[in-house]
Amino acid sequence: MEKKEKILIVEDDKRIRNYIETVLKAAGYDVLISKSGSDAMGLVTSHCPELVLLDLGLPDIDGLEVLKSIREWSHMPIVVVSARTDEGEKVSALDLGADDYITKPFGTSELLARIRTAIRHTRSSNPEMFRSGKFVTGELTIDYEKRRVYVAGRDVGLTQNEYKLVSLLGKYAGRVLTYDFIIKEIWGPNMNTDNRILRVNMANIRRKIEKKPAEPQYIYTEVGVGYRMEDGESVSDDQD
Ligand code: CA
Repeated sequence: MEKKEKILIVEDDKRIRNYIETVLKAAGYDVLISKSGSDAMGLVTSHCPELVLLDLGLPDIDGLEVLKSIREWSHMPIVVVSARTDEGEKVSALDLGADDYITKPFGTSELLARIRTAIRHTRSSNPEMFRSGKFVTGELTIDYEKRRVYVAGRDVGLTQNEYKLVSLLGKYAGRVLTYDFIIKEIWGPNMNTDNRILRVNMANIRRKIEKKPAEPQYIYTEVGVGYRMEDGESVSDDQD
């Protein structure tokens, strides 16, 4: 029998905790429960779960502190559950090393998608893929070897920076990347953090790849936080 993946739910709200627990068990995960931050840190060390679903508003320790302390010694996937619409808080969580976040209230399919994506990304951190493989979502294909992007088989003609941006988002498809992270990756750490240049590039990219740039289906804006590429499939070129 296949070993079930273990997920630690850190949530003090009983109703939400029960809801998540039911959903995850139905999806075939093993579930660990924690109602407080200190309890969570103990369980993380003793059980090494495959993923932590971490509520930020906890009764004892701030969820961000829990996140920081886990990241001091572990890369395990952490998806932050935030009740607050505070974008700054989400950015802080991502900067502190959270893999993703989900805002309450959320639906079952969104929750499961975030979890699958976060677990898959830790497993498939395969840099080779981004030298020779392809990424495909809908009609969009990123060819990492040719360094080109196609929509419905047609080369969309991205500039070098536009290509770098799209390929970065493709590498982390399904996950949100913050403006700061993207700017540092594309323009280097010495670039003054100015989102304008990023927004201009994104507008140009959307004109080239999206049918309706105002209603994107490949690259979404996460308001106040960053961008997220629609999840897709990575395809390796060599078949062995
Ligand atoms: Ca809470």
